[in-house]
Formats: sequence, structure tokens, C-alpha cells
Amino acid sequence: MKAVFITGHGGNEVVEVRDCERPARQPGEALVRLHAATLNQVDLYMRNSGAGITHRLPQIMGLDGAGIVEEIDPDEKLLSPGQRVVVYPGITCGRCEFCQRGEGVLCTKMQLLGEHRDGTFAQWISVPARNLFPMPPGLGFVQAAALGVNHLTAWRMLFTKARLRPWETVLVFGIGGGVSLAAMQLAKAYGARVIVTSREDTKLERALAMGADHGINGKTQDVAKAVLSHTGGRGVDVVIENVGEAVWPSAMKSLVRGGRLVTCGATTGDQPPADLRRIFIRQLQILGSTLGDLSEFRDLLAFVEQRGIVPVIDSEFAIDRVHEALSRLESGVQFGKIGLDLR
Ligand code: ZN
Repeated sequence: MKAVFITGHGGNEVVEVRDCERPARQPGEALVRLHAATLNQVDLYMRNSGAGITHRLPQIMGLDGAGIVEEIDPDEKLLSPGQRVVVYPGITCGRCEFCQRGEGVLCTKMQLLGEHRDGTFAQWISVPARNLFPMPPGLGFVQAAALGVNHLTAWRMLFTKARLRPWETVLVFGIGGGVSLAAMQLAKAYGARVIVTSREDTKLERALAMGADHGINGKTQDVAKAVLSHTGGRGVDVVIENVGEAVWPSAMKSLVRGGRLVTCGATTGDQPPADLRRIFIRQLQILGSTLGDLSEFRDLLAFVEQRGIVPVIDSEFAIDRVHEALSRLESGVQFGKIGLDLR
């Protein structure tokens, strides 16, 4: 089979498309013929340094994916060969205190595909059967693959962490990125009002066309002032944020008293000023979040099916053109997910 390996750390020169053996299926696992995967920011992190993440070299890249079950235990009851499935990217130990509490996403031995073990930029993968979920009908393979990391992350941020209510207002920074777009789609489908920011008017226009209520250009406008003017001076209930330092002060100033800020990334730096006085006087909540667990993935897939949500795909590349795909992600010009066609 063909697969995309990182062979070291650096730029695209350490990323190689190689022929390798198909993985051997272990009992309890399902062998899946992957049709599509999408790129995530962490793929660039793994290529660039992978620091702090125990991994082998070479290792197959990629966290999310969708495909068709090829082979599974004969006594398997829930999945069958030929079924279209989407992959949950985390393999938990099932035994640590967090797994026992039903909080698998906090598992101390969590192995993520493409980070701690071979990932989804491959034509075949073998994963525990419990990591596979039926694909929502109506979605293509790339669209379904896109749900596994970004939509799941946005789901946990909005509904588990921020406990969003349909009558509330959400501010989403950096629209165009995968998690931000997913958060906008999910919050809108839930009935909330959504304000988005970007440094590019074209991205704001596309977000407005998709249903965002207001767009703010972070390059030419004072974001917090614009938020207050869009909310009658009140501020937003929830901020969804993965940009970090560059937007932190405006994020804090945009929150209503008692508001919640959820962060899942820090692409511009992870040491913003804390602004503690504002946090305690206005009783703000700062919440960290990453990915989501199996039950959240199940809820997300049901919501996506019921509301007819279709992830936004920016572009699609054949597996041999993975370097172009990575460069596009790195450039930040994309609006939506960058897909990899593995067929
Ligand atoms: Zn565990």
C-alpha cells in the first residue's frame, strides 16, 4: 500500500510517500480501506518537531479518516465488511483513572493516530473496532473524515466545556481554520448567534454567506469594540479560540460578565497576559479543551446527520501530492479542510 511517512523533523523534505506492507489486523481490530483523510495543524507540528510526543520514525502521518471496513472479527455484531466508517483518532487504555471515570479523552496513555502511532495517510489501517463509527449518510469520504478531529474538537468546546445555550452569542476567532469553521457550523445549527473574525474580508464574506451573523476584520477593526457594538454593549457569552496570544486581550474584553472562553490552540503564542483582575471581577471562566471522547463523537455524528451539516472542504489532493497539501495548510490561505484522496 501507499502511505505518507515522516522520516525525520524539518520541512516537506522529511515527508515521503512510500510503498509499505498493509497492516496486519489483530483480534478486536478492523482492517479499513481508507478512502480519504484530511490535514490538521498537528500534522505540521509532527513534521516540524513532534517535541513532547513519543513517536517512532519513520511513522505514518494523519489523524482523521474515512473508508470501508474490509475485515473484522467474525463474531463482530455492530460493524460488517463493506460498511462505510469514520475513524475516531484516539486509542485509550481503558484502565487509567480517567478511562474508568468515562473520561477517555483525558487518558494518560492515549495514543493518537499520526502522533503516537501510525496514522491515516495510508491506504489501509487497522484500528480497534470501537474506534469506528458508521459514516453519516449523505457525506462523501473527505467530508466524513473532516469530522474526526476538527468538528469533534469544536463539539466538546461548545457543548461540553462552554455548555452553550441556543439563545446565546458565540465569538469565533480566525474563521477559515478547521476548528473555527466547525464551531461556526455547529453553533449556528444549534440556534446560537455567531460572530466571526478574520484578517481577510474574503473569508468573512464566505462565513457570512454560510450563516454567520456578523464578521469582524481583526486587521482593520478593534475586535472587542466591534463585538460590543454588535451585542448592544453586552459582550458575548462564549469565545471559541485557537489563535492564542495575538487575540487574547480582545477575546477577554469581548466576554460578558460570567462569560466562558474555551481555548484549544495557541498558534500565535501560548503566554498571553492573564488579566487576572478582569477574570475575577467579571467572574470569567477560562477553559482548556482538546479533541473529544467516544460518546461526544457519537453525539456529534447524530447531530451532523439530523441537521444535515456538511464540513467545508477547501481543496483535495491525491496522496502523491501531499507536499502541496501540507504547504497549503502552512500558508493559511485555506477556507475549510484540506483533503487527501487515498484511493
Ligand atoms: Zn486510560
